[in-house]
Amino acid sequence: MRVDLHSHTTFSDGTLEPEELVATAHKLGITHLAVSDHDSTGGLDTAREKAAGLNMTIIPAIEINTRESLPIHILGYFIEDKNETFQKILNHHREIREKRAEMILEKLSRMGIKISLSDFGTRLGGAAIGRPHIADKLRERGVVFSRQEAFDKFLARGKPAYVLYEGPSPKDAIEAILAAKGVPVVAHPGYSVTHDMLLDLVKLGLQGVEVYYPSHNPDQIGNFLDFTKKNDLVATGGSDYHGPGSGHEKMGEIDVPEIVLENLMERKQKLFG
Ligand code: AMP
Ligand code: FE
Ligand code: FE
Ligand code: ZN
Repeated sequence: MRVDLHSHTTFSDGTLEPEELVATAHKLGITHLAVSDHDSTGGLDTAREKAAGLNMTIIPAIEINTRESLPIHILGYFIEDKNETFQKILNHHREIREKRAEMILEKLSRMGIKISLSDFGTRLGGAAIGRPHIADKLRERGVVFSRQEAFDKFLARGKPAYVLYEGPSPKDAIEAILAAKGVPVVAHPGYSVTHDMLLDLVKLGLQGVEVYYPSHNPDQIGNFLDFTKKNDLVATGGSDYHGPGSGHEKMGEIDVPEIVLENLMERKQKLFG
């Protein structure tokens, strides 16, 4: 058994279709994979179908980005992805994302780079657009060589085409996940989440912390693990794989202890029966 609890498909900013993602995970020996697209569960059914033929298990998941200036990303595990209220909320987030994308494209246009929302194809309906998609277009146009360069020159906070994401608050994100009987877990806290922010999230109903993550060093892993023990939280972990060419390509390169998945399932059971 090998576990990876964080990955993306073309239903958000991953570069692989759900079936390709599952096939890639299989090749790397992963047996239990959480598909956790940003604000979309559209890839889950295809992923589950593909996984069934490979004797793999898909954990239904979501990643919801919040609107803080230091963004907090909340993962939700074992969400009931057919829940109508939950789907309405995700749909609303995707609409906010599209409006934000239009504002970013407007800024690029004033810099002489003409990209329109219709250039992103017909997938948009059930899929969440994000800055990485715009980065890919900038690469296709030869403006930059990589997603990273697009963020560094145009799209990151403080850069000329940046637009703040006016998405949900951390409270809204955690409540939406709990209402869909999911287990809310803060993603990759090592990027920007302080100890005080973590304590606030716990008060809002947070159930876990993504401890094992490619960019977390051993000190961070130790500290976050301590935090989960002191606050009765589960520790989780995953690669945050976004597919070839994405710059987030470390699937199979981190070890997530098996016990993590057992504890997560136990927490789901304890919360929702
Ligand atoms: P968005 O959802 O549009 O705000 O984009 C967030 C996604 O963009 C994250 O999940 C990462 O995949 C990627 N990202 C965010 N900030 C950066 C950065 N500074 N450099 C590279 N990728 C980034
Ligand atoms: Fe992403
Ligand atoms: Fe994230
Ligand atoms: Zn992610």
